[in-house]
Amino acid sequence: MERNQLLDATIAACRNLIETRFPDDPSRGAAAVLLDDGTILTGTSPDYTNSSVELCHEAEPYCAAFRLDRAVVASLCLHRTEEGRFLVLSPCGVCRERLAGHGPDVLVAVPGPSDPTTVRWVTLREALPHYWASIFPEDTPGWAS
Ligand SMILES: [Zn+2]
Repeated sequence: MERNQLLDATIAACRNLIETRFPDDPSRGAAAVLLDDGTILTGTSPDYTNSSVELCHEAEPYCAAFRLDRAVVASLCLHRTEEGRFLVLSPCGVCRERLAGHGPDVLVAVPGPSDPTTVRWVTLREALPHYWASIFPEDTPGWAS
């Protein structure tokens, strides 16, 4: 499969997880990542009584990528609204940090400029232009400018 097809499949996998895991609870989200071998991993955060221990939806696939010893090449998070729209959530600062080890060329989904349900793929470098650790080029290959 070509890269654009894999990216489209990643979006579809994320939507599918939300639709199949939460058929009766519209306001839910999930994440999906594409690995360097073409594998698509999905994840979603459990509900916790203490909301301070909740995870980003991306945590599960990021940990699985490490378990599988594969690189993440694209990452997406979607939130379905009560109206059934799938909003694209740009990765939070913590997830950008979690992705940084995969290099600045990782693609991250951000909302389109005029429609927050449209996926726009940008590189992590675009999303994180002044990565703090880039001053240590020996520790952050690819990030040195
Ligand atoms: Zn996050």
